[in-house]
Amino acid sequence: MGVPTAEGLGRVVGDEQVEHGGIQVNRTIMLPASLDEAVEALAATPGAVPVAGATDLMEAVNAGRLRPAALIGLGRITELRGWRYEDGGTAVLGAGLTHARMDRPDFAALIPALADAARTAGPPQVRNVGTLGGNIATASPAGDTLPVLAALEATATLARAGATREVPVSHLLTGLDPLRPGELLTWVRVPLLNAPQVFLKATGRSGPARATASVALVLDPARRAVRCAVGAVAPVPLRPLEAEAWVAGCIDWDARGEEGATVIDPAAAAAFGEYVAGACVPEVLPDGVNEGLAVVAARVRRTVSVLARRALGRALK
Ligand SMILES: Cc1cc2nc3c(=O)[nH]c(=O)nc-3n(C[C@H](O)[C@H](O)[C@H](O)COP(=O)(O)OP(=O)(O)OC[C@H]3O[C@@H](n4cnc5c(N)ncnc54)[C@H](O)[C@@H]3O)c2cc1C
Repeated sequence: MGVPTAEGLGRVVGDEQVEHGGIQVNRTIMLPASLDEAVEALAATPGAVPVAGATDLMEAVNAGRLRPAALIGLGRITELRGWRYEDGGTAVLGAGLTHARMDRPDFAALIPALADAARTAGPPQVRNVGTLGGNIATASPAGDTLPVLAALEATATLARAGATREVPVSHLLTGLDPLRPGELLTWVRVPLLNAPQVFLKATGRSGPARATASVALVLDPARRAVRCAVGAVAPVPLRPLEAEAWVAGCIDWDARGEEGATVIDPAAAAAFGEYVAGACVPEVLPDGVNEGLAVVAARVRRTVSVLARRALGRALK
């Protein structure tokens, strides 16, 4: 039996006429109703691009950076729009979860930092349709869910016709193990830590806006560990591993939850902020040439330091 053609799959909903640079071209649009159909359609249609909420994709198409030969809409695959629990204290999140859905109280009780990030990811129209999978696949430096997934050490399931593989989300983002042509991001596995976790974001203006810096911080009391990731200051989220290990040793883990207890010395919390900022934002010394760069770098360092200190304070409150 040969490879089925896209038309043979019977889920082609139309050949849309679109204009590109004054030329009318045909674009095939497929709307698979299941994951299996979607990976089959991707395999059968070279050059096809999956599309979820289209908030990033249409920006790329409109700017002329992307001209997909065919689109595979993921919106009808209901299994990808929810989540489930797995043995061993893991939540398995569908790539089609929208930011609006992740902001709801039931999800926020499960993975608070991801809900915090989803709440700030653009205006409501964008959050209603923009998805977790789209945020990861786009891998923008300012992607709000990304530092949270890095701090949680989340993994992603990638599916292609007849095979799946599991990779750390951070490997996808750094390009160490990228999404390959014909692969669909299906699930994101996140450990359920049942402990405070925080996402904080700085923007250049009030109201919904992209991050100029962000910090995700999660406590892992079972391992007496703090995990932190800084977003938007580099192409990918950065983990200040030494600062994490140092601050974990400054916390009185047994006093957590006790009324009025001092869980960390405020000076240590402030030093943590500086440690994180120093690890993630390089210092640019004013040299008479790069004055502007030095000023911007100093501002970003201050912002990251404040966000990290506040995130720790909130997590330990
Ligand atoms: C006005 C505006 C404001 C925004 N503000 C923010 C913000 O503050 N913070 C933020 O993080 N983002 C922001 N965004 C970006 C965007 O909304 C998010 O990145 C969103 O999560 C993208 O999801 P999507 O479903 O719309 O992706 P789509 O646009 O559908 O797809 C994006 C890319 O991912 C690929 N893709 C999608 N799903 C899959 C999958 N399951 N498997 C493989 N590849 C896939 C597509 O092929 C495409 O390349 C903003 C966007 C706009 C337009």
